Amino acid sequence: MTSAAGVAVVGGGQAGYSVVSALRGAGYVGPVTLFADEPHLPYQRPPLSKNAHTEQDAVRVELVPESFYRERDIELRLGERVTALDTAAGAVVTGTGTRVPYGHLVLATGARNRRLPVPGAELAGVHALRSLDDALAIGRTLTTARDVVVVGGGFIGLELAQVARALGARVTVVELADRLLSRAVSAQLQEYLRERHERSGVRILTGVGVRGIEGNGRVERVATDQGVLPADLVVYGIGAVPRDELARAAGLAVEDGVVVDEQLRSVTDPRISAVGDCARHPHPHADGLVRLESVQNATDQGTLVGRRIAGSPAPYRSLPWFWSDQGAIKLQIAGLRTDTDEMLVVPGDSPERLAAYAFRDDRLVAVETLNWPAEHLAARRLLERSAPVSVADLAGSTLGALARARRSAEVRS
Ligand SMILES: Cc1cc2nc3c(=O)[nH]c(=O)nc-3n(C[C@H](O)[C@H](O)[C@H](O)COP(=O)(O)OP(=O)(O)OC[C@H]3O[C@@H](n4cnc5c(N)ncnc54)[C@H](O)[C@@H]3O)c2cc1C
Repeated sequence: MTSAAGVAVVGGGQAGYSVVSALRGAGYVGPVTLFADEPHLPYQRPPLSKNAHTEQDAVRVELVPESFYRERDIELRLGERVTALDTAAGAVVTGTGTRVPYGHLVLATGARNRRLPVPGAELAGVHALRSLDDALAIGRTLTTARDVVVVGGGFIGLELAQVARALGARVTVVELADRLLSRAVSAQLQEYLRERHERSGVRILTGVGVRGIEGNGRVERVATDQGVLPADLVVYGIGAVPRDELARAAGLAVEDGVVVDEQLRSVTDPRISAVGDCARHPHPHADGLVRLESVQNATDQGTLVGRRIAGSPAPYRSLPWFWSDQGAIKLQIAGLRTDTDEMLVVPGDSPERLAAYAFRDDRLVAVETLNWPAEHLAARRLLERSAPVSVADLAGSTLGALARARRSAEVRS
């Protein structure tokens, strides 16, 4: 399928890249334009919090080299922000005042970090971590910092805490909630992860708020409601909000993300789709609409929309999955742990391994694993097929063993 005006994709991240790549992969021959307000080629964000970054590393996080876009006739407009949508005329307007018409528009604008709402957050040495430029700025001080304070005990904060610890810094994580990863993983894993981080030498303060950041031009201290912490580097990760302001200004339905249908089309304007961190979508594994922030979600949604525009529509049903590498801990999650009523925690065959199985109405809906990739993969396979697994099925067993037993029973019958 082609349209003279072609496809405009706003946002050159994981989701935007997946859209343009899938469009050409599925044989779309019309014009394709990718608007990216960052100056870099589309890159992966996960490595940014798992390593200390230097300018030489920048190229390593690129999703594909520049030649990929050139060879596929994808017009890359780097450093160009879309500032308005003219949905009546079917055009985007950029910061330079240029109007670019579209036959179909895909919003892949991602999310932005919440700012730290305390005095001193603008001091040198205080950073959020979302972009490659953030990671490069952090990388410039990370190797020499002695006292690192991480504000926020979420995935990104805990990953970065381990990077700083491995480089020899004294590291303190300050979390306002009573637990680490309070909404992201089960209570059982929260406890386990806290103990592991503390064992590696990271100091964890939960239930503690940051009041301000102090220093003479550059950070020297973090004032919390339980005392003052010395700091020569502060990194904060206190959540992200979807970049849905273009959609809102254009009158599209927005509700903490651009609201889309099961084919990821705006419920207001079928000529517009939204994918990745900025999209709120229906999902068979959720009650109601969800907005997910993960590479899996951005990749699968971008691919689905690219293929749909190229002529192969399908509803979005991909199983959500996620990973987080926190030093020696590899956490993986398959499925969605919403409204679960029973958890089963099973130790693996080594002290470093653990799995937490979440059930709703005695049916497995999500699995969290630590340092156990085989069990994570078994969980993905079973959940993708919607194979029923009850608490009794898992008594004294693992999903890997259960899947093997079911396969051999199938072969025998
Ligand atoms: C530090 C970090 C570590 C992470 N680690 C993991 C991990 O281990 N596992 C995992 O599954 N997920 C991880 N994630 C989450 C994952 O990277 C995101 O879910 C994913 O990048 C979302 O892709 P996206 O394309 O929707 O958004 P983004 O990657 O945010 O890309 C959106 C892009 O659009 C641009 N943009 C926005 N508005 C405009 C505009 N008006 N005009 C032009 N351009 C615009 C933005 O600047 C940005 O470059 C991590 C995220 C971060 C920040």
